[in-house]
Amino acid sequence: SKDKKNKDEVIQCKLMRIKHKLIVMSGKGGVGKSSVATYLSLALAQKGYQVGLMDVDLHGPSIPKMFGLHGLLNITPEHEIIPHEYRPNLKVVSIESMLEDTDSAVIWRGPLKHGVIQQFIADCKWDDLDFLVVDCPPGTGDEPLSVAKLIPEAQAIIVTTPQEVALADVRKSINFCRKVNIEMAGLVENMSGLFCPHCNEFIPIFRTGGGRRTSELMNIPFLGSIPFDPAVVEGGDRGRPVIEDEVETPFKKAVFEFADAV
Ligand code: ADP
Ligand code: MG
Repeated sequence: SKDKKNKDEVIQCKLMRIKHKLIVMSGKGGVGKSSVATYLSLALAQKGYQVGLMDVDLHGPSIPKMFGLHGLLNITPEHEIIPHEYRPNLKVVSIESMLEDTDSAVIWRGPLKHGVIQQFIADCKWDDLDFLVVDCPPGTGDEPLSVAKLIPEAQAIIVTTPQEVALADVRKSINFCRKVNIEMAGLVENMSGLFCPHCNEFIPIFRTGGGRRTSELMNIPFLGSIPFDPAVVEGGDRGRPVIEDEVETPFKKAVFEFADAV
């Protein structure tokens, strides 16, 4: 239809102004996708890039909370969605910031979800970006598929933890990407080991190295290991990302190395 053609053209125009598109995904929930998307965006912004972060986890949006962003997004008379500006060069959009009542459970069917994501991409006023980071819900369901279809040139960043169960799910994600032709930027291992918050000594409570082995086995780039840091949990709850603090931590160092690898 004419309407669809227009929407596709609008998306094409928007995407032309964005240099790199990254989809953060994993087969499993709770491995830290949203945290990885958050800290990657912050690190890239810190390096001076123009960054946009889009939360397409329609059922469990968590990005606004991590940044401590409240309030609904403004819509222009031309129906453009104005993102939250966490920093002048870091814009954030989440479905959560578009719903009046954020406690009401969102129930959308697959095709409807595709429409919402399509509208997001078509209507967000990103302007010129170096990086658009898309935070997906867990799994290989409708949302990553929609994003892949709408942004065919996007590259996936696959998140895992060192545990064997998570790594098995990661293999599923990698195979999903291969099947639907999403290019993979690589694999990042999150919550590897533990740095003692008091003495900064490394405590390998989780096994490490699984991510690197899996990436070698599956023949995709390894983007690094991000340690478990209890302050991250607290920062997420408080809505203040921990790399905002001046202090150098192993977590912060790892996040910047990961951003360099990306
Ligand atoms: P997902 O988006 O994959 O469901 P989240 O990013 O919401 O995962 O993270 C799940 C929980 O784990 C959150 O409480 C978050 O603060 C915590 N978390 C994520 N990464 C780390 C890390 N490197 N160190 C400590 N806690 C982390
Ligand atoms: Mg999440």
